[in-house]
Amino acid sequence: MANELPDMTLKPIGVVRSKIAQPPQPDEGKVISEIVVDSSLTEALDGVEGFSHIVVLYWMHQAPAGKVPTKVHPMGKQEFPLVGLFVTRSPQRPNPIGVSTVRLLQRRGNILVVQGLDAFDGTPVIDIKPYIPEYDSVAEAKVPQWLTKACGISQKLQDIYHRLMDCYGPQHWWPAEEPFEMIVGAILTQSAAWVNVEKAITNLKAAKALSPEALRRLPLPEVAALIHPCGYYNAKALKLKSLAHWLGERYGDNLDKLLANNIDDLRQQLFSIHGIGQETADSIILYGANKPVFVIDAYTRRIIDRIGLAPETNSYTAYQTLFMHGLPTDSELFKEYHALLVCLAKNVCRSRPLCQQCCLNNICPSHR
Ligand code: SF4
Repeated sequence: MANELPDMTLKPIGVVRSKIAQPPQPDEGKVISEIVVDSSLTEALDGVEGFSHIVVLYWMHQAPAGKVPTKVHPMGKQEFPLVGLFVTRSPQRPNPIGVSTVRLLQRRGNILVVQGLDAFDGTPVIDIKPYIPEYDSVAEAKVPQWLTKACGISQKLQDIYHRLMDCYGPQHWWPAEEPFEMIVGAILTQSAAWVNVEKAITNLKAAKALSPEALRRLPLPEVAALIHPCGYYNAKALKLKSLAHWLGERYGDNLDKLLANNIDDLRQQLFSIHGIGQETADSIILYGANKPVFVIDAYTRRIIDRIGLAPETNSYTAYQTLFMHGLPTDSELFKEYHALLVCLAKNVCRSRPLCQQCCLNNICPSHR
């Protein structure tokens, strides 16, 4: 077969100049990039100004090297069915050619300013074509059910995020001066209002007890007294002392070393500490280690259920999978999104929701 086909040589016609220098960002659809076309081809762009959109073909030069799989999980997500490579947009393919339909904002000589190009800075461009709705848009295109569902959920999750961000603005979580304080806060906030956690942390700081070494040294009743404001103080004091002992024995109090573990290892190790469950472990992984896992809490479940996105099972993992698969893998996005959901639940989507005041009320089926 190979002998019957001609040799092929591709030559870049230009290069992408973009602020995207790494994997997709939350607002990548809004990213404005430039395509700098080789100056010898400037004339070939004449007339492009008459089109609102163009189709850009580019060489995904940062695609993973190595053997190309013939079957993949779409978007690298295990929950999607294993399908043939050519029914996915996986970047790992025999010829790593990417294609994007983008909005053309401006032409300046040999430079096209475009919006929505999901190619990294420095990506070689191999062709540009006009987008012609009569040819390029198919009214009755069919896609598999798994894709319809995934796209619908993803769009809705992103819509919710943008509405919440517009309404409440960045929350800048987690409010802690350093990682150990963050971890202590994650334990103390279990079944407690944050305002009371702040009082407990202030007490620990005033007593110079906010360190693993100090927590090991202090008797349990003294730790309990210091954290009294946040409730369940005896149980939480025991958890803090367990954490402090574990951290000393396993890591010599070197928190950086603990947090450098990969997500799965870190989660398993945190589970082995008395009093650390899924939500607390994931809070530490996201806000302490700055690694992308989505934190699920009771507020998140409540909002997701009311907004009509409840997963088929009621497990922590099912809710987490919903977000992890529906959003770009981005720890900053996950941090803000979780904080915004908490903000909505506390202010508006309470046990008795205040739907009239809610920024999601025109997309929420539970609106009343
Ligand atoms: S509209 Fe009502 S039920 Fe829906 S998210 Fe807002 S407050 Fe909650």
